[in-house]
Amino acid sequence: MSTELQSELVQAVELRRNFAIISHPDAGKTTLTEKLLLYGGAIHEAGAVKARRAQRKATSDWMAMEQQRGISITSTVLQFEYRHCQINLLDTPGHQDFSEDTYRTLAAADNAVMLIDAAKGLEPQTRKLFEVCKLRGIPIFTFINKLDRPGREPLELLDEIEQELGLQTYAVNWPIGMGDRFKGVFDRHKQQIHLFERSAHGSREARDTIVELTDPRIEDQLEQSLYYQLKNDLELLDGVGPELDLQLVHEGKMTPVFFGSAMTNFGVELFLKYFLDYALKPGSHYSSVGEVPPTYPEFSGFVFKLQANMDPKHRDRVAFIRVCTGKFEKDMMVNHARIGKIIRLSRPQKLFAQERESIDVAYPGDVIGLNNPGVFAIGDTIYTGQKLEYEGIPYFSPELFASLRNPNPSKSKQFQKGVAELREEGAVQIMYSTDEAKRDPILAAVGQLQFEVVQFRLQNEYGVETILDLLPYSVARWVEGGWEALEKVGRIFNTTTVKDSMGRPVLLFRNEWNCQQLLGDHPELKLSAIAPVFS
Ligand code: GDP
Repeated sequence: MSTELQSELVQAVELRRNFAIISHPDAGKTTLTEKLLLYGGAIHEAGAVKARRAQRKATSDWMAMEQQRGISITSTVLQFEYRHCQINLLDTPGHQDFSEDTYRTLAAADNAVMLIDAAKGLEPQTRKLFEVCKLRGIPIFTFINKLDRPGREPLELLDEIEQELGLQTYAVNWPIGMGDRFKGVFDRHKQQIHLFERSAHGSREARDTIVELTDPRIEDQLEQSLYYQLKNDLELLDGVGPELDLQLVHEGKMTPVFFGSAMTNFGVELFLKYFLDYALKPGSHYSSVGEVPPTYPEFSGFVFKLQANMDPKHRDRVAFIRVCTGKFEKDMMVNHARIGKIIRLSRPQKLFAQERESIDVAYPGDVIGLNNPGVFAIGDTIYTGQKLEYEGIPYFSPELFASLRNPNPSKSKQFQKGVAELREEGAVQIMYSTDEAKRDPILAAVGQLQFEVVQFRLQNEYGVETILDLLPYSVARWVEGGWEALEKVGRIFNTTTVKDSMGRPVLLFRNEWNCQQLLGDHPELKLSAIAPVFS
């Protein structure tokens, strides 16, 4: 390998950080994203992300359904620079557009930022996304938001994270007051207080005055009670709390915690600085030839998301690829591991704030969007040099189920084709009844939007109008050991057995309680909430 390429790769990896934000709707993800971009110099006026979105909605006919619903179906990658680092923020669809794509995006992320509303603490969507991060063992950074509003006690919030997620916490900064009395944060590493001044609507970077804890002025600056509370809190944290252990952070066992207020811009830059220091750089990935380091000179990456119909005029599809090793160059020829063909990667795109811009090169930790004329499936590996294949992305436990019917027999062929193609694309999981007489596919999804996308696309692309009947299940579990293991158990109750698209048995339950009951009755039965993809 040329030493030039080697040093180029080493430097690219050294300067790259990639992360996704996991949060529950309304915790402030959009706001935090805007503020991060503001510091990154990518946009100069916070609010531009939303404004851009509104503008796009007004001017493009990009996806009719998206317009009708006024929501964003895509997840994009925001790239910005801060202190010479190249930061890739993988946007995880939240809100009503929560879907399996949200989970898959985490498969491409090296770090996660868990954003929590200080008044609410841990919320359901955050917990679910945390589980996926835990499965991958990626570092989790916690940002506790909305300190400018009354919220729960900081110590109580840390305790909740420790008890419920089993993560050790280390507060990197500590809030001084809360709500109207929020005065800023204390940086425990530098032993400095950051006093913040509210700026009008938080649209500019907040003025940030740094004062040493030993500074005699500090007692005047803070109300006395806040000053003593801070001293007490710090004694407690230093006394009983663990030290920051980066090894544990990188293994996903300890989370550095930051407090702030995204809206008024308190603590965001401090967070960003430490995040860059503590976060994992793009690392090795496990593959069919073992661990491959990012500086491996041949290019490789995997598809983690497919996006259809971004531009209805062109009916194009975009495959989002996480670059794992080597250097990507426009128009390069790569091998497609699953289908064994060589393809040219033309028209590569980098996605910035939903706008497409062509790119010439990309490095490990980056995400590229490739036009996909139907050759890619979720989990596909592309590579140059010696053959290698990444592990693939598992199916995640769906929570919504519906039977899908085609009432028009003359459309049967289109219906079958559409369902099969949408499944291959990963738009939805498809399961079937074990009763041969019941041929209607069962759609299994993580979010309601997936059903709507499937029905919308079946009608628009395949000309089939369908009827959806919701089914009363909320939990799916794959049976380890397959049919054989299931038969050994004999008759089971309060569950419906179906098969997934690979013919493997899946048990559907109305609720978690029924699932636990079955496990209690049959301890020999091993169930799994995820199933590996064998694409
Ligand atoms: P998302 O759903 O997670 O993307 O949340 P948004 O960023 O859209 O924020 C949800 C609401 O919370 C909006 O009304 C924001 O203005 C508000 N918000 C976000 N961050 C803060 C904050 O730090 N303090 C306060 N008071 N409100 C915030």
